Amino acid sequence: MLLTLENVASYYGRTRVLQNISLELAQGECLCVLGRNGVGKTTLVRTLMGLTDSTQGRIMLNGQDITALPTHRRAMAGFGYVPQGRQILGAFSVRENILVGTFAGRGKRGEIPAECLDLFPYLRENFDRRGGLLSGGQQQQLAIARALALKPEVLLLDEPTDGIQPNIVREIGQMLLHLNRERGLTMILTEQHIKVARQIGHAFIMMDNGKIAAAGRIDEMTDELIARHMAI
Ligand code: ADP
Repeated sequence: MLLTLENVASYYGRTRVLQNISLELAQGECLCVLGRNGVGKTTLVRTLMGLTDSTQGRIMLNGQDITALPTHRRAMAGFGYVPQGRQILGAFSVRENILVGTFAGRGKRGEIPAECLDLFPYLRENFDRRGGLLSGGQQQQLAIARALALKPEVLLLDEPTDGIQPNIVREIGQMLLHLNRERGLTMILTEQHIKVARQIGHAFIMMDNGKIAAAGRIDEMTDELIARHMAI
């Protein structure tokens, strides 16, 4: 397995937000993390990146125990991260935003790998444009390109379609599908759009109150499960 979580719990201060999280992800798989607001989806992704206050249990990436590693060493170990809200540097150019990614990862620093741009003609053609001037969808492309610049083994995407216009949601879905199916990039994404999850995911987990309430292959994600864990 490329990634294994064994009985992971995660805390903000003394508050336990996640508990009993165990899961496995094989090379090339796409796992969708689903559930209502506030159940712990973002915290799960942040836990993988070492961005919560403390963690119990064990997280193995590519045979390496990363549970105690700080965030930058997890990036080195192979996690690419597209945070919620994208966190583009608005005053910096497209090029500079992507360059930031090269300093976090395992590739050559200060050199943008060609393969992180060929999916994004808009970015290539607007290299000197300030990040803050891009639309939501374009910023999401930029956040993904920045994460790809560190040559990740596993791409973590936190609500990549959140706040994106409906017609662009489809485009982002297609691009993630390409990254996974054509390039074999392993992915974990939190997602509100069931349609996108069904389109891209191989497997899913439904979270509730900081735990995994249901898990399975994506074709086992029934309407009944969705109604139980996602309807408002
Ligand atoms: P989701 O992504 O599913 O909407 P989150 O992971 O953001 O859920 O939040 C899970 C729980 O953790 C919520 O109860 C939220 O209030 C709490 N939480 C999130 N971030 C923090 C934080 N920085 N400090 C304390 N509690 C937090």
